[in-house]
Amino acid sequence: MHTYDVIVVGGGPAGMFAAGFAALEGASVLLLEKNKRCGAKLLITGKGRCNVTCSEENPRKFIEHLNPDGRPFLTALFAFGPSDVVDFFEQRGLSMAVERGGRVFPEKGGAAEVLALLERFITEAGVTVLTDCQVNELKLSNDQISRISTSRGLFEAESLILATGGLSYRETGCTGDGYRWADQTGHHLVKPEASLVSVKLAENWTGELCDFNLRHVQISVLLDGKKIDQRFGEAFFTRNGISGPIILDMSSAIRKALKSGKITLQLDLKPAVDTETFDRRLQRELEKNNNRDFGNSLAGLLPRDMIPVFIRLSGIDPTQKCHSVTRQERLKLLNLFKQLELNVTGCGGFKRAIITEGGVSLKDIDMRSMQSKKIRNLYFAGEMIDLDGPTGGFNLQICWSSGYLAGINAARHSK
Ligand SMILES: Cc1cc2nc3c(=O)[nH]c(=O)nc-3n(C[C@H](O)[C@H](O)[C@H](O)COP(=O)(O)OP(=O)(O)OC[C@H]3O[C@@H](n4cnc5c(N)ncnc54)[C@H](O)[C@@H]3O)c2cc1C
Repeated sequence: MHTYDVIVVGGGPAGMFAAGFAALEGASVLLLEKNKRCGAKLLITGKGRCNVTCSEENPRKFIEHLNPDGRPFLTALFAFGPSDVVDFFEQRGLSMAVERGGRVFPEKGGAAEVLALLERFITEAGVTVLTDCQVNELKLSNDQISRISTSRGLFEAESLILATGGLSYRETGCTGDGYRWADQTGHHLVKPEASLVSVKLAENWTGELCDFNLRHVQISVLLDGKKIDQRFGEAFFTRNGISGPIILDMSSAIRKALKSGKITLQLDLKPAVDTETFDRRLQRELEKNNNRDFGNSLAGLLPRDMIPVFIRLSGIDPTQKCHSVTRQERLKLLNLFKQLELNVTGCGGFKRAIITEGGVSLKDIDMRSMQSKKIRNLYFAGEMIDLDGPTGGFNLQICWSSGYLAGINAARHSK
């Protein structure tokens, strides 16, 4: 049986970071990954471009974005924050660029280059990587993990780091094994839920506008008519609902609110102008097209693809002349532009969730070291812990910071 100082289970960003830094601390490290190659999920991040981190330098501001409460994560951020991540990649030859919303991406290339760099990093640090190796069971003796049973035999380690990710995109290898072991070894699990997901709508016309991009829109979330959230940014319609960055970021609040009442979304397609100003614009547009069919009058106000849907929703006969559009009809049209109501029926599931909310409770982890409070030689890193953030690089930053802390502390523990 092979014995190592540190064994890391899971070759995602958190596991690779943990393994590399444990090895740099002088530990003998084995990284076990069940896929043929590490980083399957990393490769699909940021639509293949990989939003590596965010540009928020102030850890106290960074944690305000985290769920449930980011304060326990401060130590990890001070130890390895967003600027350390940028330095890490740039020192190894991958320049980073800050884009809209403070999103940090590789300047050239994307997820493939990030993964290749991480693979080089762990190899050069001296990590032994065993892919195609499914970890099946952790064996305990004297309240410590003593052996790791895998599809490629038994291994022994002084310390173990679990970085098996969440439950979404199962095809990337995320099947919740780490949750099961955490539970079996006495850790409290906060129920894993699919998060950063699209939202399903009752409206059956969204499919007609599938993937059509709504830039610079404002969306409000209403619970039984009362506004509970509002965001400005980008969204797009899907076959049976709506998605895009602002929807993903509101999806957790929507999922929770759905348990308490009826959720509607109000879409403002013209958030830069107030309702009165836009009404005057609408009147001018109708006057300009005075003797034309209403159906041919909206080109100046809407992208072409949206016009047929809007005409239908307005209930105005498209062959009606613009001069005969009544005030009431115009106000209905105005409402479609400024307060288009969308009825939420549910949220997307794990199949296409960007992250898993919930996981190993932070109460059972010493967040200064990522060490389990239940099992002394066990450490956690990455998405499997009960901490998550919005889109924009926050979730990978959680992986880098927690992976770094887990790696160096597991290595020190093993000495
Ligand atoms: C489509 C998509 C786009 C995303 N884009 C971004 C983005 O741009 N920026 C961002 O910050 N975040 C993004 N995320 C989120 C980010 O990818 C995850 O938060 C991150 O990958 C989690 O890393 P991890 O190392 O904790 O787990 P994972 O990346 O899920 O890796 C876990 C690894 O453990 C392995 N494993 C599991 N069980 C076992 C076992 N029993 N034995 C051996 N190995 C096992 C798995 O095969 C897997 O390789 C995106 C997610 C998705 C799905």
